[in-house]
Amino acid sequence: MRYSLFSLARQALRGHRDWQPVWRDAAPQASYDIIIVGGGGHGLATAYYLAKEHGIRKIAVLEKGWIGSGNAGRNTTIIRSNYLLPGNEPFYEWSMKLWEGLEQDLNYNTMVSQRGVLNLYHSDAQRDAFARRGNAMRLAGADAELLDADAVRRMLPFLDFDNARFPIKGGLLQRRGGTARHDAVVWGYARGASARGVDIIQNCEVTGFVRDGDRITGVTTTRGTIQAGKVGLAVAGSSSRVAEYAGLRLPIESHVLQAFVSEAIKPLIPGVVTFGAGHFYISQSDKGGLVFGGDIDGYNSYAQRGNLPTVEDVCEGGMALMPAIGRVRMLRSWGGLVDMSMDGSPIIDRTPLQGLYLNAGWCYGGFKATPGSGWCFAHLLARDEPHPVASAYRLDRFATGHLIDEKGQGAQPNLH
Ligand SMILES: Cc1cc2nc3c(=O)[nH]c(=O)nc-3n(C[C@H](O)[C@H](O)[C@H](O)COP(=O)(O)OP(=O)(O)OC[C@H]3O[C@@H](n4cnc5c(N)ncnc54)[C@H](O)[C@@H]3O)c2cc1C
Repeated sequence: MRYSLFSLARQALRGHRDWQPVWRDAAPQASYDIIIVGGGGHGLATAYYLAKEHGIRKIAVLEKGWIGSGNAGRNTTIIRSNYLLPGNEPFYEWSMKLWEGLEQDLNYNTMVSQRGVLNLYHSDAQRDAFARRGNAMRLAGADAELLDADAVRRMLPFLDFDNARFPIKGGLLQRRGGTARHDAVVWGYARGASARGVDIIQNCEVTGFVRDGDRITGVTTTRGTIQAGKVGLAVAGSSSRVAEYAGLRLPIESHVLQAFVSEAIKPLIPGVVTFGAGHFYISQSDKGGLVFGGDIDGYNSYAQRGNLPTVEDVCEGGMALMPAIGRVRMLRSWGGLVDMSMDGSPIIDRTPLQGLYLNAGWCYGGFKATPGSGWCFAHLLARDEPHPVASAYRLDRFATGHLIDEKGQGAQPNLH
């Protein structure tokens, strides 16, 4: 069913009784050409582009819970392409371009809102680093503007500009950055994939792999064994656990990342703002809630809930940047399981096992990558060669030393 003003009017006249489910809840078949493990944004986008761009028909997405129950439904919805390194920036800019056409492509309202992402700087050295990043972005075709303190003050007069410890000296603005509705992105890709024949199979946990020597030929699941020509992993925070079923050890640690939302207030924050002197970022949802977050909890975990010291740390960052936030009540907080790679950049690559492909290491920044990751992983799975904009995301870079350490912080997950 195509959504349009016409279909909306027709359904309204019929009392909204004829809407169809957005996707088919499929049962597993005995075999598929390609199985994607993980029904988050990345897995579903991969299946969608495999069907749409590469014409592959026998595809299944296996999800252990319900689609979007992982990080895809838990993130703070920020999209941007403000990266520095040549291995990263072209990929994220490609992803941004896909966001810009996503709603038309999917015929689904994913609420992409290019309301701007502003990274604040608090020292001359930080300004110079941001100027460099802005130039790198512009060289890769992205937009970037370096603002001084007065320009930021006009935009966000309620920030604590003259804080003695963290004076705000300006910011790097990407106007094309912003937010998108995370659930809608999952549902939109699921609908598009399902319409092209992809089986989306929920409550189907992958528990192991079927092997023929060094070749993966299928998966064992809680709903039986399923054969596959190729298997692609897109399980985010569970990457190490699932790869271990195949005997692989990944350069990834899983950590909890928390997020928070306040009660709804009148429109206050026009875009996304990040604090440059601590780990804190904030935006305002269309419902009025202030959506914010900060650092990972800092210990390895597979739990989808965090701890109070990080809540305190995030709130301290919020108070230092924007003291008025102390007047709003926090409504909810939650945690997600993020796959922190050792250089802070992702992996989209083949594995040493034939037929097994890996999409992982998205750290706390993979939502914005959803369209680009799906596009490039589909390309790899279909053609057995990396997409040009994702060619640096190799698994063996941790052995060869070709790291993509965006922040230059080394193998320290909480500093990426
Ligand atoms: C609190 C928080 C805030 C964030 N904010 C942002 C942000 O603002 N911007 C941004 O760009 N990124 C953000 N991220 C990161 C982003 O959400 C993730 O990088 C991205 O969603 C990961 O890809 P995914 O959507 O496919 O993952 P997920 O949605 O986690 O998908 C993985 C799926 O695999 C399934 N799975 C796991 N094991 C198995 C198995 N054995 N069998 C079958 N299925 C399995 C899981 O149930 C899950 O549904 C945030 C993350 C968190 C937690």
